[in-house]
Amino acid sequence: MTDRSEPAGPLPLSTLTEDETMLRGEVRQFAEKRVRPLVGQMDQEAQIPRDLIAALFELGVMGVEIPETHGGAGASLFMACLAVEELARVDASVAIVADVQNTLVNNCILRWGNEEQKGRYFPKLASEWVGAYALSEAGAGSDAFALRCRAVEEGDHYELTGQKLWVTNAAEAELFVVLATVDPSKGYKGITAFLVERGFPGFRVGKKEDKLGIRASSTCELVLEGCRVPKANVLGEVGKGYKVAIETLNEGRIGIAAQMVGVAQGAFDQALRYSREREQFGKPIGDFQAVQFQLAELATEIEPSQLLTHNAARLRDSDAPFIKEAAMCKLFASRSAEHVTSRAVEVFGGYGFTREYPVEKYFRDQKIGQIYEGTTNMQLMAIAKQIFGKL
Ligand SMILES: Cc1cc2nc3c(=O)[nH]c(=O)nc-3n(C[C@H](O)[C@H](O)[C@H](O)COP(=O)(O)OP(=O)(O)OC[C@H]3O[C@@H](n4cnc5c(N)ncnc54)[C@H](O)[C@@H]3O)c2cc1C
Repeated sequence: MTDRSEPAGPLPLSTLTEDETMLRGEVRQFAEKRVRPLVGQMDQEAQIPRDLIAALFELGVMGVEIPETHGGAGASLFMACLAVEELARVDASVAIVADVQNTLVNNCILRWGNEEQKGRYFPKLASEWVGAYALSEAGAGSDAFALRCRAVEEGDHYELTGQKLWVTNAAEAELFVVLATVDPSKGYKGITAFLVERGFPGFRVGKKEDKLGIRASSTCELVLEGCRVPKANVLGEVGKGYKVAIETLNEGRIGIAAQMVGVAQGAFDQALRYSREREQFGKPIGDFQAVQFQLAELATEIEPSQLLTHNAARLRDSDAPFIKEAAMCKLFASRSAEHVTSRAVEVFGGYGFTREYPVEKYFRDQKIGQIYEGTTNMQLMAIAKQIFGKL
């Protein structure tokens, strides 16, 4: 007879460690208690209260991968993604604050920053400073390296001039990773990453976008007018900014997939609850097999979405190749979030179409998953490149 006390082989793909289970529980509780009551207000006011952001720092989800020696949790991208997923289950805007902080800003400093930069910025990013990541411009979206923001060397500093667009967290952030070119004639090889503080002369946050979804998350323009950035704030090497950008976004995509898994799960939770409460023909609509099947279909979409996302994060954390898997999980999770949230609205019937119930917000919030950190076509391009190899 098989001894069941020891696992017979590799653990199930969905296995979490004790620390991961604990973090998930803590973030879930936080999201229900602290975030849920504010969801409608934040959406209406298009703003996240400062004290809620401070609470995210206290919870420890803003510096998940920052080493403990610098005040962070010294944990993994997987744990950061778990936190994003749980927050997004309640509110996708709050989730993206933590996502950008961990998967883009902290991540690129961790990977490209020198010890002095880590010592200077990590304690702040783990405890009070929100970070933002500024690559896109008006004419440089999918073609991100067509950026025009210029960095001109002037003695001990660079002067940055140009405009950045669509910068998530910009209204709250104190530190911005800004991509600019030191020499447009060099094409992408002129692109350089800079750590820009909000208080640097010549820097200002411009217009805030009025959006369809994730309305409480700030998305703003940045205006750089000869912004003085010390040379000590070049992140990585001059001319290697394209590598910083590509490699950071490869990992960032896993975070967006986690956000989409959370959004889909949150909408599903609402639909399941409503199906047990709403009565028609003398019984809860959830008693009708057609409604049960509808929810069974949705659950069957969320599960693979989560498995793909968790697996991509695990691959990255174990230093295995993950670029194809990261693009796949974002593509799949954003598509399934669109379908799941749309069907969840239908479970609510007419009420699902009103702002009286929370489900329509999930439907609005999911759409961004197919756009930022690379549109659906860009994910397909990344996957195709991995499949076909570089031609
Ligand atoms: C809410 C929000 C938050 C954002 N946050 C940030 C942020 O924090 N930092 C940041 O740097 N950027 C951010 N972005 C920018 C985002 O990453 C870009 O919007 C995205 O990369 C798409 O670029 P674009 O909007 O210029 O669209 P375009 O590149 O103009 O794309 C338009 C359409 O054309 C398609 N397309 C373009 N080129 C090709 C091609 N070669 N082949 C096939 N199809 C193609 C696209 O798939 C898309 O469907 C944010 C955007 C939004 C809306």
